Amino acid sequence: MIHYAIEPIKPAAHLFQVDCRIENPDGECQLLSLPTWIPGSYLIRDFSRHVVSIHAWDRNGDISLEKIDKQTWQCKGCSGELKVVMEVYAWDLSVRSAHLDTSHGYFNGTSVFLRVHGRESEPCQLDILPPPGNIGKNWRVATSMHRDGAGHWGFGRYRAADYEELIDHPVEMGEFQLCSFEAGGTEHHVVLTGRQDCDKGRLSRDLKRICEHHIEFFGELPEMDQYLFLTMVVGEGYGGLEHRASCSLLCSRDDLPVAGEEKVSDSYRNFLGLCSHEYFHTWNVKRIRPAVFMESDLSSESYTRQLWAFEGITSYYDDLALCRSRLISPEEYLQVLGQSMTRVWRGNGRFRQSVYESSFDAWVKFYKQDENALNAIVSYYTKGALVALALDLTIRQETAGRHSLDDVMRILWQEYGAKNIGVPEFGVEEVASRVAGISLQGFFEHALAGTADLPVNALFKEFGVQFTLRPAMSQKDTGGKPAAVNDTVPQSSLGIRSEIAEGGEKLKVVLDHGAAQEAGLAAGDLVVAVDGIRVGRGGLDKMICHIKPGTTVRIHAFRHDELRVFDVVLKKPLTDTVVLTLLDEVDNFALLRRGAWLGRPDGAARDKTG
Ligand code: ZN
Repeated sequence: MIHYAIEPIKPAAHLFQVDCRIENPDGECQLLSLPTWIPGSYLIRDFSRHVVSIHAWDRNGDISLEKIDKQTWQCKGCSGELKVVMEVYAWDLSVRSAHLDTSHGYFNGTSVFLRVHGRESEPCQLDILPPPGNIGKNWRVATSMHRDGAGHWGFGRYRAADYEELIDHPVEMGEFQLCSFEAGGTEHHVVLTGRQDCDKGRLSRDLKRICEHHIEFFGELPEMDQYLFLTMVVGEGYGGLEHRASCSLLCSRDDLPVAGEEKVSDSYRNFLGLCSHEYFHTWNVKRIRPAVFMESDLSSESYTRQLWAFEGITSYYDDLALCRSRLISPEEYLQVLGQSMTRVWRGNGRFRQSVYESSFDAWVKFYKQDENALNAIVSYYTKGALVALALDLTIRQETAGRHSLDDVMRILWQEYGAKNIGVPEFGVEEVASRVAGISLQGFFEHALAGTADLPVNALFKEFGVQFTLRPAMSQKDTGGKPAAVNDTVPQSSLGIRSEIAEGGEKLKVVLDHGAAQEAGLAAGDLVVAVDGIRVGRGGLDKMICHIKPGTTVRIHAFRHDELRVFDVVLKKPLTDTVVLTLLDEVDNFALLRRGAWLGRPDGAARDKTG
């Protein structure tokens, strides 16, 4: 048994004090370390950089800890119980590390709990202490960790079966609000931290439908005391991270529903999609896990080509579940799907990097995106979701509607997740071929190892959906729906992403093969004038949209502090915006296939949300 205690000792200085007591440590040399990354977020974060002090004692008093690399300490020759006390700085308002001030505290175990080498499989005991003084007199504690003496929502003792479990139950402490519901016979709570005025009844009702949908999908909710959506509400923010019996969410105040509002607004739909995504992970990635993640001790990167299945398939089902549980209509779903597909079509990086490569290189590319990302990489989330969609429709077609990707997920749950067996590389592809009754090797070669676009047009037709591509009306155009009647189709494009800045417009991305790149403009340039006219509030788009392609315009731009002149030959805008619509004229088979896919078995795709 390893004993831990955590106390928000100096909230104003954002310091947690964390104790770790080890009975019978390795007297010769006991190693202790903090993880370099947190499961679910594939970037080396070096949590040890926030350790501001660390001391150790044994039976004989002070004993020295020697640091042997960036994250590991060693203690030589200790006898009796070893006690280590450290102070950890916590001031990162994200779902991935830790945060503490006088209003609340939040931490992931990866940021604060030392791994005792050689003792990782022992049970852990954790005492969560309140802040000293008056600050925390109304604070409560929210965590999905097993209570071991602590009261409901209380400070006190908790326990975990091993170190891996200890660091998989994030903890929130403060004056949060709760909305609660039951799903699959288990209590579910949304823990709301931060100022908000949310319609809690509605949020509970809507989330209950999503959770019940996912539980029914997999056939059971894994064993847990309760499930928590730990939600930090801020002015503007977005993020989520999955855990075995909870998820951490960061959302904007405006994403939450307010009393009296009936419609599912775009931002509320995004929030429900985020909750749906993290909840689906309860099965897919937290329990149906890549074998390499099960072997990882979090001390260095863990490489897999499977993130398309864990993030892509999850991204596919997150919004589809909103449609299938009738929180949004099929038309609304197709709009959201079209927006997600637009994000794939907008990046030429999809011709450079395969989805397998995107997954493998997540550590150095997807999580370290720069101004060249659109030209160089593809997302295993968005293209992974597109592969999942194409796979689902393909299996449905190959099996005349008898099977689907849903069956693949259920088999993965039964054969791997429920049995705690890691999924080997290419294991998902194997199960998919089995369900389809034919080898899908060619499909996966094309979709995951290759870089050509997927033939979604033909697939969609079989399901009564029209896929079209059109040019973007502006940089704000996120796609998914036809252009509005009063939109003017731009005649020309510079091939850039930009933002209005002081004195002009700053180029954020210069797309490969675009007019701007061919003329020599670069990301970071501040465009100040077009043909001698200052770039005003209307922006660059407006200044060139009426000019015919092939025309040369003279652009003045600052690169750093030097004014430069570029003669830009304008190009036709790309047709990179996806629009999906329900086809009216479809045969009965297509209608039935569409109904089965979208969760409208009667084929009545045009329904009201309710
Ligand atoms: Zn995810």
